[in-house]
Amino acid sequence: MSSFIEKDLFPLSTELRPDGSITIAGSSLKKLAKDFGSPLYLYDSETIRANIQKLKNAFSTFYPGNFAIAYASKAYLSRKFAEKIAKQDIELDVVSMAELLIALKAGFSPKQIHFHGNNKTTEEIQKAIDCNIHALVIDNMDELLYAEKIAASKNKCVKIWLRITPDIHVKTHPHIETSAAESKFGFHVTTGEAKAGIQYALKSHFFELTGLHCHLGSQIFDPLPYRITIQMLYDLASECGYVPSELSPGGGWGVPYSTEDPVADPNDWIEHISSAVIEQCRQKQMPLPKIVIEPGRWLVAKAGVSIYQIGSQKSTPNGLRIIAINGGMSDNPRNALYQAKYTAVINGKIASNEVFPSRIVGKFCESGDTLIDQVYLPEAERDDLLIIPVSGAYQLSMASNYNLAPRPAVLWLESGGIYELLQYRENPEESSWWA
Ligand SMILES: *Cc1c(COP(=O)(O)O)cnc(C)c1O
Repeated sequence: MSSFIEKDLFPLSTELRPDGSITIAGSSLKKLAKDFGSPLYLYDSETIRANIQKLKNAFSTFYPGNFAIAYASKAYLSRKFAEKIAKQDIELDVVSMAELLIALKAGFSPKQIHFHGNNKTTEEIQKAIDCNIHALVIDNMDELLYAEKIAASKNKCVKIWLRITPDIHVKTHPHIETSAAESKFGFHVTTGEAKAGIQYALKSHFFELTGLHCHLGSQIFDPLPYRITIQMLYDLASECGYVPSELSPGGGWGVPYSTEDPVADPNDWIEHISSAVIEQCRQKQMPLPKIVIEPGRWLVAKAGVSIYQIGSQKSTPNGLRIIAINGGMSDNPRNALYQAKYTAVINGKIASNEVFPSRIVGKFCESGDTLIDQVYLPEAERDDLLIIPVSGAYQLSMASNYNLAPRPAVLWLESGGIYELLQYRENPEESSWWA
């Protein structure tokens, strides 16, 4: 456990009791699992607040212009969660009608919302235009022309950004890379579409092109691709005689999931983004734009913890120790989707010295339903609680009802043992649930 805390894997308010059990924000995980059942997901408010503040402080240190932190809500969103973060003075990225409606209901002003996505529906474009969101982020030429038609039919001038794809590779899993020439996202630079898009948007009466945007992918630990991208965006703008008043280099900053992963300081990210923008503006004699970064994973991953109950255990003929838990790929598909690595501890047995290589599998009818390929754990018993840290991003937001598994309950934890239910556990006893 101590090595996990050093490596920064658990929420800030995590404490280890002398009996080897864990509390977060003063709440005992054992008690929460007893009261709310498992699988159970928790978010530590202190960690989220501290993360937001850290990014704001970094901008205040490195960037003399305006900036905004826009949470990429696809990492995890529910109405109550949106209400919590709406109080933190941040902006929000949405990619669907439901995310937009929840954001508005939770108290976000349309002026704080950006709508992304490579294939927005007619209804989504109309709604975004009707409520005057801060930026409709146009993905491609086809969408640009279609959105213009809709804007024209409403006789409105819509604030847009264009999503530019730099056609470069970044070091991450191919399924979460969005910057390459084969990407389905954005106006590609090398085909000339990016330039044509900017020129078209500048001429249209129905658009105000307020900014350029690029999102390179996720789990990126190196600031260099951001520098290259910012230079590319400014070269492009300057070629078109365009001066962006906003610039969004996207999200994507990585977090460690296990003790083997690198720990990358987001100060480096913000410092490089800031200095690259400052350098480009000086070179091209343009005013400093408002920089909008869009972290999803980095803001919420470490704040989240998942709790499971251990069930069957077995050994395979080749000596592999398998521990099955009462959740799996239905609440966390990340290993099945892109071989994401995790670590885990057993609540109450953290001080144990003797550990064995173990595979953590779920209860679902797929061989790909493995949560952790290998983790060293002590002897476990049925009903012990398995705790997986760094569970706050892209788990529940990608959860399914596979095998008609109910989606888990989610709690928001405040210090002093205070908690609030963000999401109920789905209840199969309700006949409407599967009908
Ligand atoms: C997913 C996404 C993000 C957030 O990515 P993270 O890796 O979670 O920081 C930001 N911007 C856009 C456009 C995205 O699609």
